[in-house]
Amino acid sequence: MDLELSGKRALVLGASSGLGAAIAQGLALEGATVLAAARRVERIEAWRDELPQEARRHVSALHCDLADAASVDQLIADAGDIDILVGNAGGPRPGPVMDMSHEDWVHAFNGMAASLFHVASRLAPRMIERKWGRILTIGSSAMEQPVPNLALSNGVRGAIAGWSKTLAGELAPHGVTVNVILPGRIHTDRVDQLDAANAQRQGKTAGEVAKASMTSIPTGRYGTPKEFADVALFLVSARASYMTGSMVRVDGGMIRSI
Ligand code: NAD
Repeated sequence: MDLELSGKRALVLGASSGLGAAIAQGLALEGATVLAAARRVERIEAWRDELPQEARRHVSALHCDLADAASVDQLIADAGDIDILVGNAGGPRPGPVMDMSHEDWVHAFNGMAASLFHVASRLAPRMIERKWGRILTIGSSAMEQPVPNLALSNGVRGAIAGWSKTLAGELAPHGVTVNVILPGRIHTDRVDQLDAANAQRQGKTAGEVAKASMTSIPTGRYGTPKEFADVALFLVSARASYMTGSMVRVDGGMIRSI
């Protein structure tokens, strides 16, 4: 299947590691021009250097701190016209609702949601003009089944779900699709950090927590970033032109609801 990603211009946020990096790499391997943005540009350059030469030259590393409005505006100015926006940011700190301050909520909302909403609004007009665009946000299984002790993530991602569905309706007549992809447990630094935090809370080892977590997933294991990125590549491709307003699970069957 030809995804027709060659020659497309993609901006991937939070692209220095984990899921954002895996999607950015996949896009470059498919021949897209990739602007990979994150706070740690040197980490983007490190994974770019590992790519085959042909793909490497498709990747540019841009600095952006999604929690800093001026940095986000600078990124928008530097990015120029974009065909594909992959919205991604680091997950917020774990903890229960009752531990969160007003400042915690504002910080999480700005870094994960408001910055993404702003970038999408600024990039969408050129997609509309060209009658083609893809806006894909990395969400979480928490959008369908809130995860205990991840209050900030559960709360803010609900807002992202509502935003994405609303924007999908607005942009559908213009050939621009807007979707969310929901990771269950995909093996990245973030999942290791959450397992370590849960282990500390429960007086167990991180290995024991990871094993219990994997046992609760029907496939019996965590997913790989590549398995996740492959679905994302399809969703931003020409092949997914009739998919919009969707939330697509990549979770090994973890979410229990139908
Ligand atoms: P990760 O921690 O490995 O990667 C997060 C990326 O976001 C990194 O590149 C990091 O540098 C970047 N980032 C963080 N804060 C930023 C900021 N202020 N400005 C710019 N970039 C910033 O995490 P991941 O596992 O790749 O997860 C990506 C997203 O998906 C997170 O929001 C996470 O909560 C969510 N998620 C992941 C899983 C999973 O299984 N991995 C499950 C549910 C939700």
